[in-house]
Amino acid sequence: MAVDSAISSPLGPPACEKDAKALRFIEEMTRNADSVQERVLSDILTQNSQTEYLRRFKLNRATDRDSFKSKLPVIAYEDLQPEIQRIANGDRSAILSAHPISEFLTSSGTSAGERKLMPTIKEELDRRQLLYSLLMPVMNLYVPGLDKGKGLYFLFVKSETRTPGGLLARPVLTSYYKSEHFKTRPYDPYNVYTSPNEAILCPDSFQSMYTQMLCGLQDRHQVLRVGAVFASGLLRAIRFLQLNWRQLSQDIETGTLNQKVTDPSLRECMGKILKPDPELARFVRHECSKESWEGIITRIWPNTKYLDVIVTGAMAQYIPTLDYYSGGLPKACTMYASSECYFGLNLNPMCKPSEVSYTIMPNMAYFEFLPHDPNSAGFTRDSPPKLVDLVDVEIGKEYELVITTYAGLCRYRVGDILRVTGFHNSAPQFHFVRRKNVLLSIDSDKTDEAELQKAVENASRLLREFNTSVVEYTSYADTKTIPGHYVIYWELLVKDAANSPTDDVLKQCCLAMEESMNSVYRQGRVADNSIGPLEIRVVKNGTFEELMDYAISRGASINQYKVPRCVNFTPIVELLDSRVVSTHFSPALPHWTPERRR
Ligand code: AMP
Repeated sequence: MAVDSAISSPLGPPACEKDAKALRFIEEMTRNADSVQERVLSDILTQNSQTEYLRRFKLNRATDRDSFKSKLPVIAYEDLQPEIQRIANGDRSAILSAHPISEFLTSSGTSAGERKLMPTIKEELDRRQLLYSLLMPVMNLYVPGLDKGKGLYFLFVKSETRTPGGLLARPVLTSYYKSEHFKTRPYDPYNVYTSPNEAILCPDSFQSMYTQMLCGLQDRHQVLRVGAVFASGLLRAIRFLQLNWRQLSQDIETGTLNQKVTDPSLRECMGKILKPDPELARFVRHECSKESWEGIITRIWPNTKYLDVIVTGAMAQYIPTLDYYSGGLPKACTMYASSECYFGLNLNPMCKPSEVSYTIMPNMAYFEFLPHDPNSAGFTRDSPPKLVDLVDVEIGKEYELVITTYAGLCRYRVGDILRVTGFHNSAPQFHFVRRKNVLLSIDSDKTDEAELQKAVENASRLLREFNTSVVEYTSYADTKTIPGHYVIYWELLVKDAANSPTDDVLKQCCLAMEESMNSVYRQGRVADNSIGPLEIRVVKNGTFEELMDYAISRGASINQYKVPRCVNFTPIVELLDSRVVSTHFSPALPHWTPERRR
């Protein structure tokens, strides 16, 4: 029931006192976006005034925007590589941040094939926690009664390593789930999960998924929302159920736990949760053995009000499949965040995916916006970019996000392109357009054009002894299967038909391409099972010329035509598929270890 109107919020009547406070905070931050930004910048510059980085640019303790903007360069990850390497190697001096670097967060964005390392400080955890604490109060405005049941969320930790200097390096969510903020979170009736912490924190992805699914099935009538971080993760859970429902039903029937779950603390915890329930086991078997899995989510969890998954950006490709499995349940994209910094939240989370806008919270970092012109060649030293402040962005325009964080990133280009859709008070709201330079993505992997080119070059070396070369290629992220996989179309020039490459050789080419991919891709293949084997589809000679003819018939200029290195327009994919002469899949997993190569 909504609390009385005295504490009502312009966003709507809060569900409880705690929500009222959170909504008031959102109002306060967004009403005063510019002054909050000014204070944040001043705080960051004061806190870090004696760091090597700020001293290098002779900021002389200035904390105002003009000095900051005139003295500090806009940078990308590669510009910080030397400083980051020193920190990783154990240099504890105040290089980027006055506060000690507590750990590195490993981004899914890569540099030279390895995850980018983002230095972070302890207090950033509080800031992330603060953003999380705003999500349910907003959701409760749109979906009443979420305190009457539970959330089935598939959440996972990933492997962590240490840098040569001894700092932990791990993904931001792993850091969060392992923190006391998460592990000892106070009971909140609006935020009860079916998964026990032991299941979420189990490092083995099979055991973790198995027990989370088991708990979700056992609590099926109480589940009011089903989620994962990204859409691909939720679909992986559905696939897991397809592969494991027999064993899961067996466990439910007998109230015992599959021997494949070996983690002692997880076994102990599940021992207390599991109860024999033959009727539920019968139900699960009945539903899962049906030929069609259409609407399976709502069949098994009939009280689900929405799916809580990100379906913006690269994840939009999964919307039709999610709709199929859930009978078109609403898909809530609640927040926009990264390893570098958590940015903001969606104030209208039940809107259609195409209408999702994220409101950047001005207290999280200092934000600047680089006007994005897809046709410009970029900027040079002589023509530095003109960055715009948070409150000065214009509706309809696209910008690249640039951040200055408490942890010491200064005027750092995140690589995301955003379009302004409106304002909440004086805080702008952004549609996530895309991440720069990403050609292919299935899960959290991001492969750019240069990486794909290199992979094709490396693989095509295997064709030399067959006097064969790759004359043209393009690619496609095939998400019709779960997990999805990369498809690479090759047009070959075979000079000696009697000695053309065999299926075996082309399979090895698939594997060679996978070995060339960045570590996030290889981790997805090896550890997370979130990406399926890469496939090469060899097309008939002349196919790429047809592709060009098609593009020209649709208005492309013949002089400027370039072969697209990734295709997703259905008629083009269909054209390519209709010319396929053979298909080949990677026969093995590429190499991957948690350790970094450099
Ligand atoms: P990572 O550094 O691995 O944490 O990845 C962060 C990146 O994921 C962001 O910079 C975005 O490109 C992408 N991302 C995060 N949240 C969203 C969202 N809600 N919608 C679309 N893309 C997102």
